[in-house]
Amino acid sequence: MKKFYLTAAIPYVNAKPHLGHVLEWFQADVIARFHRQLGESVQFSCGTDENSLKNVQAAAKAGVDPQVWLDQYAQVFQDAFKFFEISLTNFRRGSDQTQHWPGVQELWQRCLDANDIYQKEYTGLYCVGCESYYTQGELIDGQCPEHLTVPETITEKNYFFKLSKYQSQIEELLAADTVAVLSDQYKQEMLSFVRNGLEDFSVSRSISRARGVGVPVPNDSSQVMYVWFDALAIYLTSIGWGYDQQRFESIWPADLHVIGKGIARFHAVYWLGILLSATLSLPKKISVHGYITADGQKMSKSLGNVIDPFKLVEQFGLEPVKFFLLKYINSHSDGDYSQEKFIEAYNADLANGIGNLCSRVAKLCEKDGLSGLSKPQTVFNQDFVKFFDQVELSQALEWLTTQISRADLYLSQEKPWQETDSAKRTQVLEQAVTKILFIAIHLQPFLPHAAERIIAHFTAPTISVFQPSLFPRLGL
Ligand SMILES: [Zn+2]
Repeated sequence: MKKFYLTAAIPYVNAKPHLGHVLEWFQADVIARFHRQLGESVQFSCGTDENSLKNVQAAAKAGVDPQVWLDQYAQVFQDAFKFFEISLTNFRRGSDQTQHWPGVQELWQRCLDANDIYQKEYTGLYCVGCESYYTQGELIDGQCPEHLTVPETITEKNYFFKLSKYQSQIEELLAADTVAVLSDQYKQEMLSFVRNGLEDFSVSRSISRARGVGVPVPNDSSQVMYVWFDALAIYLTSIGWGYDQQRFESIWPADLHVIGKGIARFHAVYWLGILLSATLSLPKKISVHGYITADGQKMSKSLGNVIDPFKLVEQFGLEPVKFFLLKYINSHSDGDYSQEKFIEAYNADLANGIGNLCSRVAKLCEKDGLSGLSKPQTVFNQDFVKFFDQVELSQALEWLTTQISRADLYLSQEKPWQETDSAKRTQVLEQAVTKILFIAIHLQPFLPHAAERIIAHFTAPTISVFQPSLFPRLGL
């Protein structure tokens, strides 16, 4: 059986999941479901990035013991995966000392054995928010471009990873799409970053700066590993690395990492360096998504425009929210959410689109006492498959919307409700049901509940009207 291994980024646990997390999880989940539908053996990993100063700071601010905080938030994220029906197969916490830490230490040891980890005194500009050093040139008005805060100046003796050694190799891998960065815009950004020259980066910090949190560096009790070294390793340790080698080898490499644009460099550059050093195979694709704004503005607590994804789903249902985020936020660009846009899209695509098509056809079938057809085999359209390969999910949904319009057009041309010849009428309706089932098969990775309902309805011994309707219209 063909395997497919994909991952979603490992989030910090310093706050509840936001809409951006949910967008990413939906993207990854839909791809996982698509590959399962192809009959592949799918592994889907995520976890929690717990060895981070950010978490310690959030716990301190809340006046909670860090471990209590981590346990609480790891659960919040696990509950969120259930709530949003994300079909993860592996969840690994960064604080897991039995299966995660030994794996991370083995990865470290491999890089050390390759002479790629060495000690050096270092002074740098460090953004706690990013857990990353910046050069003066990378700052905007002296501030971190992600957080718009002034980084701290830090001097420390740390371990460094010899990234510079892999510069030309990484450049070739990215340029040749051996590791394909999607979309091309991000690929070019990564390439120009690499071509500007790769510097070795710090992979440890003092225990005091880390406030005691982190995976210990082997044979040096004064240092813990840089949080990124440990977080990226979750992609390995969640599938057996360090404790179940046989399982690991049957799953690695990742066929796809799904990530946000803010962490593209860690995945498309640093991670490749670490894997090359450890002589592990490389991920095949890295799909990068953008950020979501609300009503055209960046979401922020101070603006009071933060969209809570939990409330959104409670209000409108999981599948309509998923549909909107995947169709109207381009898979690789920034996008915007507004309630007005959401309702407009819902009514156009779901209520008047697929919902109306299904209820019209079902009603006509019921009137004639028609029986359902047998469930078709899963054979995906070639364009649709191509959109999935390129992680162009918005285009896959656009394609699906076109199929719905075509089926509508077919009905309005054939006018079965006016047809007096019953044999002819049956033929047209069966053709319409065939089209609907074809659409439902393609809808399955995206909206499994709606698709299942459509399939069950039109494969039943007798077709009846939809009660309640599939997607009732929403008022503004
Ligand atoms: Zn930052």
